[in-house]
Amino acid sequence: MSKNTDPKRLEVAPIGYANGVAPGFPLNDSEKEQMIDEATEAYGKFLDALKCDWRNDPNSSNTPRRVAKAYVLDLWKGRYNSMGDITSFPSDGYDGIVIERNIPLTSQCSHHHQTISGVVHIGYVVGDEGRVIGLSKLNRIVEHFGRRGAIQEQLTSAIHHAINEICEKNRGVIVTIVSQHNCVRCRGVKHQGAAMVTTKASGVFMETGNAARQEFFDSLKINNGNHQI
Ligand SMILES: [Zn+2]
Repeated sequence: MSKNTDPKRLEVAPIGYANGVAPGFPLNDSEKEQMIDEATEAYGKFLDALKCDWRNDPNSSNTPRRVAKAYVLDLWKGRYNSMGDITSFPSDGYDGIVIERNIPLTSQCSHHHQTISGVVHIGYVVGDEGRVIGLSKLNRIVEHFGRRGAIQEQLTSAIHHAINEICEKNRGVIVTIVSQHNCVRCRGVKHQGAAMVTTKASGVFMETGNAARQEFFDSLKINNGNHQI
C-alpha cells in the first residue's frame, strides 16, 4: 500500500491560481468559515455595483452568503479540501488496460466563472509490477481537479498527471474530456450544443496504431449515447 496524494507531487498549477489550491491548503473549518464571511461581504458589494437592491428583495437578501458557501463548499472545494489518501495496490499480474468512462464532470471556466459540464473518460495500462487504484478513486480525482476554476485543456493535463503519479510504473495513461461550456451557450456567441473534446495521452497511448489506444476509443462508442452530454 502507498499513500501518494501529496499536493507537492500532484498539483501542477501555481498556488493561488483559480485552477490551483489556495494558500495554506488544505483549509480547516474555521478558515473556511472566515472565507465564507469575507466572500459574503464582497459579493454583496458586487451586487451593489450591479444596482441590485438585494437587501430588500426577499429572494436575494441571503444570496451573497449562498454564493459564498457554494464556492467554498462545492464549486471550488478542490482548492480548499484535500482529496484524502488514495491507496494504490499491486496489480497482481494484471497487465491489461483499465478504462472508466462517463465520469460526470462539473467544473467552472476560469475566464467567465460559468459552468462546464460533461464527462471524463480515463484509461491506463498497468505495467509489470505496476499499481492500480480503486475505480471510484478515478472519480475522486476528477472531482478534486474539476471543482475549481479551470481551462479544459489544463484540467485534462492535471487529471492525467495525477493518475500518472498515483498509478506508478504504468505503461500509459489517457484522459479524454467531452464537455459543454455555459460561457459559450449563454454569453458571447450563445451557441447551444457545441462540445469541446480534449485528450491527453502518454506512454503506449501515444503510439500510432497501438491496440490499447484503439480499445480505449472503441470503448467510448459502446452503447453510443451513454457518453453523450
Ligand atoms: Zn469561459
